[in-house]
Amino acid sequence: MRHITNPLRDGAERGKASVATSDHYPARVLQPHLVSGSPRANAHKTLQVMKFGGSSVNDAACITKVAEIIKNAVLDSDVVVVVSAMRGVTDLLIESATESEAGNQHRVTAIFQEVRQRHESAATALIHAAEKREKIAHGIDELIRDAESVCREILRQRKLTPRMCDSISGLGERLSAPLVAAALEERGLRSQAIEATELIVTDSCYGSAEPYMDLTRERCEARLRPLLMQGIIPVVTGFVAATVDGVRTTLGRNSSDYSGTIMGAALDADEVTLWTDVDGILTSDPRLVPSASSILEMSYREASDLAKLGAKVLHPKTLHALMQSGIPLSIRNTFAPDRPGTKITPDGSSNAAGVRAVTAICDSALITVRASSVLEVPDTLRRTLAIAAAIPFQVRLVPQSSSSKSAICIVVSSNHAESAFDALRGEFAHDLEHEKLKHITLHPSVAVIALVGRNLRNAGDIVERVTAALYRDTLKVFGIAQPSSGSNISFVVAQQDVKLALTIVHRELQLDEHVR
Ligand code: ADP
Ligand code: ASP
Ligand code: MG
Repeated sequence: MRHITNPLRDGAERGKASVATSDHYPARVLQPHLVSGSPRANAHKTLQVMKFGGSSVNDAACITKVAEIIKNAVLDSDVVVVVSAMRGVTDLLIESATESEAGNQHRVTAIFQEVRQRHESAATALIHAAEKREKIAHGIDELIRDAESVCREILRQRKLTPRMCDSISGLGERLSAPLVAAALEERGLRSQAIEATELIVTDSCYGSAEPYMDLTRERCEARLRPLLMQGIIPVVTGFVAATVDGVRTTLGRNSSDYSGTIMGAALDADEVTLWTDVDGILTSDPRLVPSASSILEMSYREASDLAKLGAKVLHPKTLHALMQSGIPLSIRNTFAPDRPGTKITPDGSSNAAGVRAVTAICDSALITVRASSVLEVPDTLRRTLAIAAAIPFQVRLVPQSSSSKSAICIVVSSNHAESAFDALRGEFAHDLEHEKLKHITLHPSVAVIALVGRNLRNAGDIVERVTAALYRDTLKVFGIAQPSSGSNISFVVAQQDVKLALTIVHRELQLDEHVR
């Protein structure tokens, strides 16, 4: 039994009993829904938080599907909606900021034209009443003008700070939320678009801010509960938040998933659902492994590992917000809402040892530090890991070749490769000169293929089977990492081999045999 420490900045207990569990995460504490001491707004109804990703709100046709899903859900639940920007819009907005810094006014103008056009045409298709349509069009215009003026300032100063970038990159969510709210009103529902800057309070780490949960809970309660009590569906902007002083922040790229779970935890929801463009979490990325199959149920731990090891379907921080409460998280397909998708619960469905899914972290580099003899290894390892600790390194490997007992291998993300390589060369300059170290090499483009599951150390000869299967197809394995937790095993291959390697591993472990 061990106590779970709070992964967020401040307390999440709010009068709930402290949770101890024999597994990794707490079971949901069953008790009446008391939020900040007050009974749930609509005590007979459950509360659902539904987050819709970029592909779900991509255009008017998608938003129509979203509105239908919400309309069905409100028949028996209170619903808080969280929305992303239309697909690709955040990339465009960040580009507008960097192009402003570079002085490329033409490109900036073209970007805002495209953003304006996409939202105006969605508004035209979604909203029939002229007055309402004009109001929304006016709102779109105002928001885009604001962003354009920030870009003009960046262009004038030729300087882009993370704070300025956050004030522009969140525009997409601020544009999509009113469209979704309007689509709900078109269906006779009452709805209101709300900026998460009013709700989620964060530190000032621009670009990857972290929430202060107690403040966030207070604000969500004060702002959203009265709306729910009046039967109004709040449509909240994902991705964005604000400091205590109201300065705009963002939670990190792809982080609307995290916004969804933050809102779920803050409101003590019964369930959070992330609506996306695939049937839940699959045994691998279906774009790379078309035979991948849906996983019906997973544990928090498995899903969290999968997200951290490259599965784009979940932002790596998504589960952080739920760990204390045990609130279930579902992943469903907006375009096939009848399918069950994946349900993620504290303990998952089974205790059976084995691999659940295989994922890949691309855009990585492999750095090998080779000592001149095995005797030099402990000191070389200690110094290498000290350097690695200062960079976000991903994994330390056991190298595969037999001549490599004296080699230490680490994988870092490509954008840290040069600086890590330089730091290691600086650290070992004297040793290289005096031949205590043979060499330091950098392989600039590798990928980590990660197997995620449960008790993998007791799950048979997985490493042998996978390595043999990869070698059969003449793929080179640079190294293997097998952490003692037994929750994952990683194989490093050349970046160009990712798709093939995933397919081979998926087939070898028979992950596509049936819906799991
Ligand atoms: P959203 O915009 O809804 O947040 P994302 O594009 O961020 O959606 O995530 C969904 C995508 O994640 C899918 O289209 C799929 O290509 C990718 N993906 C990667 N790994 C997996 C996996 N194991 N299961 C499902 N989808 C995955
Ligand atoms: N729109 C944001 C992004 O593209 C957040 C998200 O979609 O999850 O990064
Ligand atoms: Mg996403």
